[in-house]
Amino acid sequence: MLVCSDVSEMLTEYTEGALGARKWAGVRWHLAFCPMCRAFLAQLRATRSVLARVRLPADAQGEARALALRERPGG
Ligand SMILES: [Zn+2]
Repeated sequence: MLVCSDVSEMLTEYTEGALGARKWAGVRWHLAFCPMCRAFLAQLRATRSVLARVRLPADAQGEARALALRERPGG
């Protein structure tokens, strides 16, 4: 039987589908009755989706800077 600390250590791999079937089932089972770990999983997923999104604006920022440099008056 997994405890919360076990599960929290495995959640990253869980979201990546990197857990073996037995561990995956254990995490899944724990999540079914543990709202704390479910909340942690939701937080982890939210953080990952934010991080995935942050990459785009960073690129857009670079482009915006390139445009700004190109359009600098007298430049
Ligand atoms: Zn838990």
